[in-house]
Amino acid sequence: MDLAAYAEHAVRLVNTEQPARGVDLLRSPDDVLELLTPVRRIPPRVTEGDISRLRSVRARLRTVFTDAAAGREGDAVATLNGVLAEFPVHPRVTSHDDSPWHLHLAGDAVGAAEGFAALAGMGLAVHLTTSGIERLGVCHAAPCRNVFLDTSANRSRRHCSDRCASRANVALYRARRKAPAARPDRHA
Ligand SMILES: [Zn+2]
Ligand SMILES: [Zn+2]
Repeated sequence: MDLAAYAEHAVRLVNTEQPARGVDLLRSPDDVLELLTPVRRIPPRVTEGDISRLRSVRARLRTVFTDAAAGREGDAVATLNGVLAEFPVHPRVTSHDDSPWHLHLAGDAVGAAEGFAALAGMGLAVHLTTSGIERLGVCHAAPCRNVFLDTSANRSRRHCSDRCASRANVALYRARRKAPAARPDRHA
């Protein structure tokens, strides 16, 4: 079981919202089920309460990324520890479908939101402590504010996706082309 890989759940949850664009992809029980699909073998029962609980965790996990990216490490860790305390994992040794004994962490008995939040928080905590807090990033291609985990060898990633990276490159190119043209005006 690769616990650090669960940090991707935190990324997926945070990126269901694009604050600067007013986009929220976490509005219905179906949205929650889609978020949970890679996590749960059997779709859990989702209630309206799960939506608001996941939104609340989402806001806090976004703060973890923005604080980490801004160098406020203590704040980021304090917020993450709050999530871990509120949504503890429920380890359980289990076997199903003729599988060997293995560990389930989200607890088959806890609610959909609690289970997901526990996995996302634990994954992010393991990732942060094993790969480094500087691996948590926020996209630089405004208005995109998507978060990401920097897995590049030289820790130089600045964008959430190739799409945002090329959008930022185009903007930079245009800005550079504009700059020299503006100069003669200044001396005119
Ligand atoms: Zn299993
Ligand atoms: Zn982006």
